Amino acid sequence: MYDWLIVGAGFAGSVLAERIARERDERVLVIDRRDHVGGNAFDVLNEDGLLIHRYGPHIFHTNAKSVFDHLSRFTEWRPYEHRVLAEVDGQRVPIPINLDTVNQLYRLDLTSETLKAWLTARAEPVAEIHTSEDVVVSTVGRELYEKFFRGYTRKQWGLDPSQLDKSVTARVPTRFDRDDRYFTDTYQVMPKHGYTAMFEAMLDHPNITVSVATDHAALGAARTAQRTIFTGPVDAYFDYRHGPLPYRSLRFEHVTRQVEWHQAVGVVNYPQTEDYTRVTEYKHLTGQVHPRTALTYEYPEAEGDPYYPIPNPENQALFKRYERLTLDERDVWFVGRLATYSYYNMDQIVGQALATFRRIEESVPRKDGRTSRTSEAMALGAA
Ligand code: FAD
Ligand code: UDP
Repeated sequence: MYDWLIVGAGFAGSVLAERIARERDERVLVIDRRDHVGGNAFDVLNEDGLLIHRYGPHIFHTNAKSVFDHLSRFTEWRPYEHRVLAEVDGQRVPIPINLDTVNQLYRLDLTSETLKAWLTARAEPVAEIHTSEDVVVSTVGRELYEKFFRGYTRKQWGLDPSQLDKSVTARVPTRFDRDDRYFTDTYQVMPKHGYTAMFEAMLDHPNITVSVATDHAALGAARTAQRTIFTGPVDAYFDYRHGPLPYRSLRFEHVTRQVEWHQAVGVVNYPQTEDYTRVTEYKHLTGQVHPRTALTYEYPEAEGDPYYPIPNPENQALFKRYERLTLDERDVWFVGRLATYSYYNMDQIVGQALATFRRIEESVPRKDGRTSRTSEAMALGAA
């Protein structure tokens, strides 16, 4: 009998497994139905020896020093600032929309100051910003909204931006300067030897047993552990009692091109043309030196693995019904993007897992009777 069963070996499951095994000295079984650890951040060498991300590009960025410091125990980093171009009206221009985007697209010579006035003249007043359409039209106006956001969002989500919560397109800001980085976070880095190597280091502890290609459902009724941490889809845990929670899926087409470089930046977005949303060229992200290059094309799909919770009021209301069920589950913690139905980045999930660990420490007596305070004191004494 294990002390803990952790379902899912992604960020949520792996961060918690390490904390519990090391800090509480308790035995943990981590299972994942996929045949590898790392969840959606899994990376692997393809048949040509190029490092790719099997579930689409994962770029690490955070403002949380605590999250960066925690992961730094398990990996070295390489600096990487992500840049994205959007193919609009036959040109490749920076996205997020910035000064150069507008000047290039409209053959203008605006400055930061005149760009503000130019956008204000086009922005549509919106009394209360609720939807993903509201966010963009109230900032840059309808024409730029249609060029950059409407088509991409319809393709990505199968919904019009007016049917999605404002938080979705609010992820992509508007810039008045020439900063063409996709993110402005303090820490923008990639794990030097890849995500999978970082996960393997995290899970490498004598108290942790990892069993991949193992589905929670297949464990049956026999109890394997005192307590459970579940990081899979919350609706699946409850056998879809209230009906399925909507998720958006993707199909990834991974290819190798027989050229050294395919595109100028890590990702090119296609808001107006093509069936795919974006093309990633990994060597920009990983820094790998190789005579060929690996790309991923992302095709959004309605059916398939659940990749994105779909943020809108109706789905949130359904999630709340499942969340109420979680409160009655004794000795089970629900953590992660699928279990909390949240469109969270990796760093937010690490933060959520570390916060869950603190709650466990406050509420679950350790097996050996020590409290977290005494073990901290012992660690300090030993240092
Ligand atoms: P997951 O990584 O999904 O892990 C959950 C695991 O649980 C999975 O491995 C699954 O197989 C397993 N599981 C589920 N059900 C069961 C079951 N019944 N039995 C056994 N195992 C089960 N974030 C960023 O910060 N930067 C990015 O650039 C970025 N890009 C992204 C691109 C794409 C295409 C996607 C889909 C996401 C991206 N993210 C990015 C988000 C990132 O993937 C998530 O924040 C993070 O992986 C969530 O970790 P998690 O542990 O909650 O979930
Ligand atoms: N988006 C868009 N056009 C773009 C980039 C983003 O319409 O060129 C919208 C789209 O709805 C997308 C959302 O903004 O889903 C968030 O973009 P982000 O790049 O953060 O998506 P992710 O990397 O999570 O897929």
